[in-house]
Amino acid sequence: MTVMPADLSGIDVRAEIERLRKERNAVILAHYYQRPELQDIADFVGDSLELSRKAAETDAEVIAFCGVKFMAETAKILSPNKIVVLPDVEAGCSLEDSCPPEKFKAFREAHPDHIALTYINCSTEVKALSDIIVTSSSAETILQQIPADQKIIFGPDRHLGGYLSRKFGREMLLWPGVCIVHEAFSETELLKLKAQHPAAPIAAHPECPPHIVDHADYVGSTSGILQYAKTTDADTLIVATEPHIIHQMQLAIPNKTFIGAPGADGNCNCNICPYMALNTMEKLYVALRDLEPRIEIEEQLRLDAKKSLDRMLDMASGTLGKGDLGTR
Ligand code: SF4
Repeated sequence: MTVMPADLSGIDVRAEIERLRKERNAVILAHYYQRPELQDIADFVGDSLELSRKAAETDAEVIAFCGVKFMAETAKILSPNKIVVLPDVEAGCSLEDSCPPEKFKAFREAHPDHIALTYINCSTEVKALSDIIVTSSSAETILQQIPADQKIIFGPDRHLGGYLSRKFGREMLLWPGVCIVHEAFSETELLKLKAQHPAAPIAAHPECPPHIVDHADYVGSTSGILQYAKTTDADTLIVATEPHIIHQMQLAIPNKTFIGAPGADGNCNCNICPYMALNTMEKLYVALRDLEPRIEIEEQLRLDAKKSLDRMLDMASGTLGKGDLGTR
């Protein structure tokens, strides 16, 4: 149940977060899609892979995870002895919702000779049913370590799976999930915007459908897009992912201009993730104060899910050999 902050008037929320962070020995992790004020107060801002690594490494006693539920659950899977709080427990994800564990299990059982390469945007139960988890920043590295004759199920994002399949010429069985945010970009409006800024390259996240990705000069994860923004010679960039990442771009490269790719209404407001937007400074304060809402995962389920996540962390660092995949 969502914790609704009571009347917080008179409370200096920012100062209280700073006080509680020290008192609780807490680390605040924030995804690039969070509101700017949450990014600014976080100890670390990153993509799913970077945040997973931070969660696994931290010696803090409390992880306050400003992101969505599957991310906070990933932190708990990797750091079971820490208290993990999510400011708004209703912060879900359309990709996770698209992939109910019982249906995914039946799909796997119908294809016993396939391994399940699964995007991190899924439930803990689906992670436990998977062989290898990937993030958008690790998917290419990991896919290239899988033997060419190994059959693959890729879920739950059919656009990321389709992009990988086209790029590497690998046939994969794709689960039909989509991210509602990246699905909302309009090709027509993007081309109109490009006509107004012909020198501006387009950087797109691979969760975008092909009719957007096909126009992109760069396709990559949020951290990849951020890096591209820093290194491209262009002084204006069109960004086809959740627009809150532009905050980090403006901090890192204040002399460049970043334009969010538009939706059908011609602006980028419809591309704000409604789940990520549920987290606020007030809810972060309450989460640190009450240590609720807290993420709890049954131990056997956690251990089952951790296998596929550990494999991702190893393979993303290139520490597994090509013949070291196996299946669950
Ligand atoms: S941006 Fe898309 S993939 Fe990311 S949390 Fe929101 S709905 Fe899920």
